[in-house]
Amino acid sequence: MGSVKQLLLNSLLLPGFPALLRHVQRNCATVFMLHRFRDAERGIAGCDVSHLRRALAYLIRNNYELVPLRNLFERLGGKGPQARGAVAFTIDDGYIDQATIAAPVFSEFGCPVTTFVSTGFLDGKLWYWWDQIEHIFQNATRRSVQVRVGDTVFDYRWENEEQRIRAQAEFTAVCKRVSEAEKLTAIAQLARESGVEIPGIPPPHCAPMSWDQVRICEGMGMTFGPHSVTHPVLSRTTHDAMGYEITESWARLRSEARSPVPIFCYPNGERDDFGDREIAVLRRLGFLGAVASEPGYANALTFQGGEDDRFRVQRFGFPDELPHIIQYVSGVERFKQLLRRST
Ligand SMILES: [Zn+2]
Repeated sequence: MGSVKQLLLNSLLLPGFPALLRHVQRNCATVFMLHRFRDAERGIAGCDVSHLRRALAYLIRNNYELVPLRNLFERLGGKGPQARGAVAFTIDDGYIDQATIAAPVFSEFGCPVTTFVSTGFLDGKLWYWWDQIEHIFQNATRRSVQVRVGDTVFDYRWENEEQRIRAQAEFTAVCKRVSEAEKLTAIAQLARESGVEIPGIPPPHCAPMSWDQVRICEGMGMTFGPHSVTHPVLSRTTHDAMGYEITESWARLRSEARSPVPIFCYPNGERDDFGDREIAVLRRLGFLGAVASEPGYANALTFQGGEDDRFRVQRFGFPDELPHIIQYVSGVERFKQLLRRST
C-alpha cells in the first residue's frame, strides 16, 4: 500500500495528471449515498447542511456534471453521452429531515437528487427496526439483557453511554444476519426484557416525510425511487415476502409520486443482502436497474458488459470531509483502484 501511495503522490506532481484522471474517469460516475441531515430542533444528527452546501458549491465551481440518477443509468447503459466523471446524489429511507432540510439545499444549487423511500414507513404503518432498537436501548429500565437471536443467546451489559451504544450496534448487526422472522422476534424480546414498550408511531426524530412532502419535494426537483415496504434485508425474507416488498413498494410509490424513478434501492444493500431472485423480480417489473451500498464507482464498462450489473450499481457514502469527496469525484480513488489491481 505504501508504494501505491508514493506512486500516487509522485503522479500528482506530473503536469499530465489531471488529464490522466479525466481519462480513468471517462467510463465512471460517482453516485453518493446520504441518510440523515442534522436538525437541532428535532434532535437529528447527520450531514450538516453547511458541509453539503460547501461540497455542492465546490462541484459546481469545478464543472462537475451533476446528473439525475435515471439519466445516469441511461447513459451508463449506452444511451447518450459517456458518464465522464458525472456525479449523482441519492438519499435513502424517506425520513422527514430529507424533505425539510436536504431538499431545499439541493434545490438551491439546482442539483438533482433521488430519494429512496420505504412505502410502509411513509404510510405510517411502521417505524424502522434499527430506530426501535435504539429506542429500546435508550429507554431500558435495566443495564443488562439476555436476548435470543436465531439460535444464539446474547448477553448485553453496559455501565455507561459508550458501552450501551456498542451493545446496541452489536445487536443491530446481529439482527441483519438472521431471517426477518427471527429478527422481529428478537426485537420484541429485547423490548420485553428491557421493560420498554415500543410506541405505535415513531418519536419525532425518527419520523417519515409525508406523501404531501414527497410531492412538494418533487416540485423542488427531487425524484423518488422505491426502497421496499418495510425495509427488511431482502435475502433474509421468504420468496413471497421479497416479491411483495419490491412489487408493492413500486406500486405504492407510483400511486403517490408524480414521476417515480424505476430504479430500486436494496435495503441495507451489501453484497449478501440481495441476489439473483431479487434481480429477477426487478427485471420482470421493467426496472432500469438498482443501487447497492457497497462502495465503488458506477462503471459503464461493467454496466454494459454483464447482464445483471445495472442491478448492482455501487455507491460511495457521502464523506464528512471535502478532501475525501474530491478524492472520489476527481478520479484519484479510481486511479488508486487501478494501481492496486495492477500490482
Ligand atoms: Zn435504507
